[in-house]
Amino acid sequence: MMKKLIAGNWKMNGSRTQARALIADIVNNLSQEEAIVEKADILVCPPALYISDVRHALRGYPKIKIGAQDCSSEENGAHTGDLSAQMLEDSECAYVILGHSERRQNHGETNVIVAQKVARALKADLIPIVCIGETQEERDAGRAQEIVLSQLQGSLPDLESFHEVVIAYEPVWAIGTGKTASPQDAQEMHTLIRENLKDLVPKPEKTRILYGGSMKPENAKEILACKNIDGGLIGGASLKADQFLSIARAA
Ligand code: PEP
Repeated sequence: MMKKLIAGNWKMNGSRTQARALIADIVNNLSQEEAIVEKADILVCPPALYISDVRHALRGYPKIKIGAQDCSSEENGAHTGDLSAQMLEDSECAYVILGHSERRQNHGETNVIVAQKVARALKADLIPIVCIGETQEERDAGRAQEIVLSQLQGSLPDLESFHEVVIAYEPVWAIGTGKTASPQDAQEMHTLIRENLKDLVPKPEKTRILYGGSMKPENAKEILACKNIDGGLIGGASLKADQFLSIARAA
């Protein structure tokens, strides 16, 4: 069985002081409970400006990985305000979240752009976490599977050799709303994603598929126990060390 990945997406929250306090809290709790890091991979994705603070706090804790929340689709050059995949790698990020629904909605990111970003990330030796998921409207119209599969197919570049890629199924209606997909619905979608990965990546069985959307300590165990759910992408609950770690414990 694949080791589960528990990833915290801090989004655009907090201050430097709060970021330092949060990572210190996570580290302090973990040092008392080393077993969690043996059983699950733990990842934190702070705002880019605080990556170096988090990196300093994690010296001596190489098992907790750092990720970014986005990268440019370009290699370098005249792209004011953007960060390249190489810069993130250089800042000791191991992962990068790409195509999050908030970026698709607020920054007009299409599948094509996301696929370009994924290719850049892989070239820079980052592991991309590619987010896909339907809106409430699409689900109500019975189009959830069709939308998720077209995002999956469109958001991955051609992958001829094996690279680690992570998929995050995040139904948009479950993000930050307190609503979660039922474990049955989530499992069904994850199984469909796994089947379709056969045509898209060299080793589909080695591709982790995370669930994201209002995951919290109370629902994590049931969701993470489902077949084909290989971890979680956690927003709100990743801002509290005790909640985040209790989700990791559930894994
Ligand atoms: C997310 O935005 O990736 C997410 C899952 O958020 P939340 O856990 O707050 O729903």
